[in-house]
Amino acid sequence: MNMQDTERPLEVACPQCRKKVLWREDNPYRPFCSKRCRLLDLGAWADESHRIAGEPAMDESDLDALLARADRDGEPS
Ligand SMILES: [Zn+2]
Repeated sequence: MNMQDTERPLEVACPQCRKKVLWREDNPYRPFCSKRCRLLDLGAWADESHRIAGEPAMDESDLDALLARADRDGEPS
């Protein structure tokens, strides 16, 4: 399981925008390419379970709130 894993980081496609992402310990948003893509994906499921009427798009503060809630739900940091 540990052969060559220090020489060739796993490369994955960001689930949100399909951009190539290196799966590295220093990428806290993996498998997403960025915080924004990660939060957009969180927003997708949040919208299904917690519909917010009249909210066409999330701004940065909403995204941060979503991330805070996700972290509190037990994601290791
Ligand atoms: Zn992305």
